[in-house]
Amino acid sequence: MTVATPAMLEFDSVGHAYGSKVAVEDFSLALVPGEVACLLGPSGCGKSTLLRLAAGLESPARGRIRIDGRTVSEPGRVLAPERRGVGLVFQDFALFPHLSVEDNVAFGLSGAGRREVARAMLARVGLVDRARSFPHMLSGGQQQRVALARALAPRPRVMLLDEPFSSLDARLREALREETLALLRESGAATLMVTHDPDEAMALSDRIAVMRDGRLLQVGSPADIYHRPIDAFTAAFLGEVNELPGQVRSGRVETVLGAFAAPAWAEGAWVTAMVRPEAVRLDLHGRGQSATVADARQIGEALVLRLVCADGTRIRVRQIGGVVPAAGSNVGLVVDPDRLMVFPAAR
Ligand code: ADP
Repeated sequence: MTVATPAMLEFDSVGHAYGSKVAVEDFSLALVPGEVACLLGPSGCGKSTLLRLAAGLESPARGRIRIDGRTVSEPGRVLAPERRGVGLVFQDFALFPHLSVEDNVAFGLSGAGRREVARAMLARVGLVDRARSFPHMLSGGQQQRVALARALAPRPRVMLLDEPFSSLDARLREALREETLALLRESGAATLMVTHDPDEAMALSDRIAVMRDGRLLQVGSPADIYHRPIDAFTAAFLGEVNELPGQVRSGRVETVLGAFAAPAWAEGAWVTAMVRPEAVRLDLHGRGQSATVADARQIGEALVLRLVCADGTRIRVRQIGGVVPAAGSNVGLVVDPDRLMVFPAAR
């Protein structure tokens, strides 16, 4: 028998509204120590509200939040943020401008050894030589590291991060992701991060919770959500898709890129089949469905193509390696049938 690890952070049927505006409805999720989970969804879907509820900055209208088994939020009773053992990192880093880097990191610490702990954390994020600097003297990436060091220094049981990389440029963001993930893992805290960027969610999380309109749509590993999204919205939100309208006949869905087994669907059902650009293969010998190359570009390691099928359907293909075909040439397109995602047609 396996014994389940007790949850460190637990949302139990949590709901919240601002006046008459419902921001979150019936949200449940449990994180274990050491886990990194992401709330992912478009702007306004309720991610930050959940983070603020977990931090104790908002009081829930419904449900309960527990940290390490203890109820910290329920309607009418909210344990103060500083008494929850949570570390917070916000989008704008929210460093104290009048305090040195070291004083920022030491801020939440008490006791005789606080300076040593602060310095050790700064060493861990590679900024010990900037201990006496003030936040405005640091780059965005360095400020982000200070914010992370400050949040981690008191050894929180739960880390809450709200779009922690969104104000940094793309290259820096990627470099900092790995460093941040290593620090979070090392801390052993349960981490909940908010992002609207699916690449960021996939790069950092053990599990992703996809949200829309205040509701949880799907929870799973990055691979689950990317390859087996629960609906067409989630499929398109996680990454580019080719949409192929089709109809089910004799257990197969017929699309412009071929017919595929669809045994679970009713005869005659109209569906939208979706396939990601990397699940369509170019066949230069003309096998597969015929299409004309509209545009082919090498973007870094990937060959990215736009093609047009005989009926005018546009298809995107992304593949690593292979010859760049000339615009206007005729090629075949072959879909990996295991990678086809079928959803009800949008009405
Ligand atoms: P996200 O973080 O996913 O962008 P939020 O949790 O910030 O979403 O917001 C969820 C919904 O609640 C949105 O419709 C937003 O406009 C609304 N909302 C957020 N904060 C407030 C507030 N302080 N007062 C009124 N409505 C708010």
